[in-house]
Amino acid sequence: MRICIVGAGPRGTGVLQRLCALSSGLEVHVVDPYPPGPGRIWRRAQPDLLWMNSPVGGVDMFGELPSLWEWVRGASLSALGEFAGEASRITERRFASRPLAGVYYEQVFTEAAAGARVHVHRCRAVDVRDHGSAQAVWLEGSSSPLVVDAVILTQGHVGARPSPASLSLASYADSHGLTYRPPGHASEVSSLQPGESVLLRGMGLTFIDQVTLLTQGRGGKFRRTSAGSLVYEPSGEEPVLYAGSRRGVPYHAKPTSSLIAGPPPLPRFFSRSAAGSDFRGQLWPLVVKEILGGYYHELFLGHPERTTMGWAEFSARFASADDPASLIASAVPDPADRFNFSAEPMAGLEFGSLSALAEWMRGYLQADLRQRSDSRHTAVLGALEGLSSAVMTTLELSGQIDPVSWIADVEQWFLPFASYLSSGPPQRRLAELIALSEAGIVRFLGPQLSVSTRDGCFVAASPAVPGTVGATALIEARLAEPTVETTTDPLVNALFHRGECIADAGTGRLAVRDHRLVTKSGETHPRRFAAGPFVTAVRTSEFGFYAVNDSLARAVLSDDG
Ligand SMILES: Cc1cc2nc3c(=O)[nH]c(=O)nc-3n(C[C@H](O)[C@H](O)[C@H](O)COP(=O)(O)OP(=O)(O)OC[C@H]3O[C@@H](n4cnc5c(N)ncnc54)[C@H](O)[C@@H]3O)c2cc1C
Repeated sequence: MRICIVGAGPRGTGVLQRLCALSSGLEVHVVDPYPPGPGRIWRRAQPDLLWMNSPVGGVDMFGELPSLWEWVRGASLSALGEFAGEASRITERRFASRPLAGVYYEQVFTEAAAGARVHVHRCRAVDVRDHGSAQAVWLEGSSSPLVVDAVILTQGHVGARPSPASLSLASYADSHGLTYRPPGHASEVSSLQPGESVLLRGMGLTFIDQVTLLTQGRGGKFRRTSAGSLVYEPSGEEPVLYAGSRRGVPYHAKPTSSLIAGPPPLPRFFSRSAAGSDFRGQLWPLVVKEILGGYYHELFLGHPERTTMGWAEFSARFASADDPASLIASAVPDPADRFNFSAEPMAGLEFGSLSALAEWMRGYLQADLRQRSDSRHTAVLGALEGLSSAVMTTLELSGQIDPVSWIADVEQWFLPFASYLSSGPPQRRLAELIALSEAGIVRFLGPQLSVSTRDGCFVAASPAVPGTVGATALIEARLAEPTVETTTDPLVNALFHRGECIADAGTGRLAVRDHRLVTKSGETHPRRFAAGPFVTAVRTSEFGFYAVNDSLARAVLSDDG
């Protein structure tokens, strides 16, 4: 059987691995302008200042192949090449640089590819057409197509055409000699001058990458003082980075502590059998209960001295309580021990100046670092276990949730909130932000950030501080969120314009059924498959990477003959 995989990042590599494990004698064409295995995000050729956001011990995506941690421990020095030094220092709980992870993905690809006749094409695929009962895949710059029996689209994070708001900011920047970067992957912006005022809109993971590139990437260094705190020593090449967002704070740091009581039994309150199609109205109370249940499981069993009731009694009364606040107040005497996560930690706060806001922010970040590392605060980890279970259940219920509620409540609210709580940067990055703030390189703007243009500048404002900040550059520090209609991917564009793929009504991403592309007529194409972040069902698959790859590979192979 001849197969073409378009996009050879971790997903395409994982699918290749399953195809080769399940069948012999395959001929597979792998198409990607970036190196197969790491693909674009994990390629070796990028600064090793950029890190994975998952600790090494948490990266195990290929089932039958060694996990990243097993590989780092067992790899030969020659396989590690210039990363041997980094690998020798790494521990299970640390964060690998993206290029080191890329070397791992290269090895995974090589091992997976050994099971088939694999041809790598280092370019983009731009179209797929029916070719009798086969598929013709057109590659950029090629005069004849690859003819295969099945095509698998695993293009990952595809680009998006700029929104009207982005276009207007870009055009303002052009006509006033300013710098504007639309949403996308973080990168060095060479036009930014030392000391120039730059607005960063967005404080998630792309923001962290962007700050790293514009500070350490420009030669700045962190030094640890004898008291243990970090100090930033500027190189003098850095711009001044003004950071703000809707929430106004960065994501919570990744925890390094461990559960004392062990994982809570989950799901307990919010499972697949939950009834309701309105997420906020009907399902959210169950999500809250799951998170609270996880928190108190750890508090009562891991820190019983801070509670006044046995877990068995609390657990039973908590399960039946409609409003457990008074139960919690009586069983957990210190209010500081009670669950207290805010989706909007800056809501309603007002500061007299940016420096007062900066002081608050450094205290907030320090408290977050303590919460996520100190064994006295492990109840937070219990809450994150409950949250992770609730996210999984929500994804499993995606077909049941009303599409309007799905977009507004799940896509735009709950999943970003879950990322903010649990998918943040390594702790070191928040410690660096504190040091950069002390050095005056990073300056925080506050929540509900608004950006406008005035007198040849970008102007930022937040209700938390009086006045405005003017800047000569604006970087949208977040990834683009394309839909099938707005993506710049040429292959998806071609299929969409011919009605050979459609957007999912809820998410706008590629619609698939049984891993197969859905066409405008509502049927599935028997020989075109897709998976990954740009595919609607992927929300579920992100939590079952190996299982989805396996099931997709079986679907592809079932068409053989
Ligand atoms: C900056 C960043 C950091 C991340 N960090 C983490 C992390 O630390 N931990 C974690 O679990 N997840 C992380 N993620 C999530 C990420 O989704 C996964 O880690 C993983 O990379 C997804 O794999 P993928 O193969 O689906 O997509 P990608 O890794 O995006 O790979 C897709 C590949 O398809 C190629 N491609 C696209 N279009 C075409 C075309 N038309 N023709 C040919 N090739 C094409 C691209 O060049 C790319 O190499 C991160 C994501 C980003 C953007």
